[in-house]
Parts: sequence; structure tokens; C-alpha cells
Amino acid sequence: MVDPIIIPDDSRKLDASNCVYPTEYEGHFDSLMISKEEIKEVVRSLAVQINEDYRGCRPVIVCVLKGANPFYQHLLDALQDCRQGYSMEFIRVSSYEGMGSTGNVKMGLLDKDLEGLKEKHVILVEDIVDTGTTLSHLIPILKEKVNPASLEVCSLLSKRIKVPQKCKAKYVGFSIPDHFIVGYGLDYNELYRDTQDIWVISQKGIDLDPS
Ligand code: 5GP
Repeated sequence: MVDPIIIPDDSRKLDASNCVYPTEYEGHFDSLMISKEEIKEVVRSLAVQINEDYRGCRPVIVCVLKGANPFYQHLLDALQDCRQGYSMEFIRVSSYEGMGSTGNVKMGLLDKDLEGLKEKHVILVEDIVDTGTTLSHLIPILKEKVNPASLEVCSLLSKRIKVPQKCKAKYVGFSIPDHFIVGYGLDYNELYRDTQDIWVISQKGIDLDPS
């Protein structure tokens, strides 16, 4: 099993001079948490691990929208490099409003969207496990509705929070400190998904009225 890369609690002061992002985000980030090069490397090692574990079988890889989308696309590319076959499915879930988990998980799960998961080896692809609330709602519903042959979670990030997470992923790219982060699919009120790196948001970014 690949151990997650640990991002330390104190700022690593990564050089962000080569990072690009939309010009309107100037001043919205405090620090670079994870660079696109680090993400690429970790995605490759997660794919190698998944390929070892699923060789000879064809898992259904499920993107948990919207946040996981960039990670999902890059993971599939890396699985293709490993010559790992898979099927693709997408589900949409949300539990965050602004910067906080609402604990109220909204799932647009239609039975027809779950058809392709029935009795298959399923891998859910998540952007981040924070409290684990989302997964703790989603997993029992999927188990009941699709009776998967197996069900695992692959999350790019896992947050080190003060209380135990309600649910953990089997495959984790990075263990990160308890900061609110944005970028690489992760949003703050629908902004910042469109960056290639992962950032700690600044006060200016937080104060911005997205409406
Ligand atoms: P959980 O249910 O595990 O508390 O949170 C999972 C979901 O909350 C993630 O899929 C993500 O959408 C959102 N989330 C959790 N932490 C963060 C964060 O630091 N930044 C952003 N942008 N979203 C987060």
C-alpha cells in the first residue's frame, strides 16, 4: 500500500513563482500547499497501486463531482499508462457551503446512474476526505442500491482533523493539515476550481463576494 505524502502543519514555503492561475485570483491565495508536479507524481503512484490491486479485473471508477474531476481525469490517464482497463461513472454529491461542512449531504443519485455499478468492483474517486461525513452517507447507500463486489475509496487528499474521521479512504495521495484549501477542482463558492495547483485561500479570497 502506498503511504500518503505528509504535508507538514507549518507552511512549507513552496516557490510559487512558476504557478499560473486566472489573473482575477491575484492576491486570493496565502500559500501554495501542493504543486501540480507533486500532484502528478502522487497520481502516478496511486495508479500503479490500483493497477497492482485490480490487475485482471475491470473496476468501475466513479467520479464524485464536482471537486474530484481534475484528479479523476489524471488518474484515468495514469491508469491507461499502466494498461489498466476500467469503466467510468459519475455521481454528484455536496456537503459544503462556503468553508464549512454542513453535515447535510445532498446526493443527486438516480437509480439509472447507478445501473453501471451493480455487483461490480467499484472505486469511488474523491477530492478530499475531511470529516468523512460525505462518504459515511454515500457508502451505505451505494452498498444497499448496487450490492458491489467490492467498494473502495481513492481520495487525493485527507485532512488531519482533531476528531476521528467518520470514514477513511483506502488510497490517499496526501495527508494535509487542517486548512481550507482551494484549487485543482476544489472550490470556494464555485471559484478556484480552475487552477492546476492546490492553495491555502487568503483573507481576500474568503472576503470576496462571489455573487
Ligand atoms: P467531508 O464530508 O469529508 O467533511 O467533506 C468532503 C467534501 O467537502 C469534499 O468532497 C469537498 O467538496 C468539501 N471539502 C472538505 N474540505 C475542504 C477544503 O478544505 N476545501 C474545499 N474547497 N472543499 C472541502
